[in-house]
Amino acid sequence: MRFLLRVLGVFLAIYAALTVLRSLLAAISPARPIRPASAGHLVKDPVCGTYVPEGSALKAENQFFCSEECRQKFIKS
Ligand SMILES: [Zn+2]
Repeated sequence: MRFLLRVLGVFLAIYAALTVLRSLLAAISPARPIRPASAGHLVKDPVCGTYVPEGSALKAENQFFCSEECRQKFIKS
């Protein structure tokens, strides 16, 4: 019974340590905000070859463009 209590105590200590570690990590990393996948994902402009964040890219015919100029070029070609 004593052995079991000791094992339980070790487990509780590990669990507590992990919980503290996790909250420490959470306190350290909020400087890096979690962005939606669409904002950070880069898409390639087929006209000029520039990589643009999907969130700020112009879209036409399932393609992404860095600017209206490139979009017009693609539509006309
Ligand atoms: Zn472009």
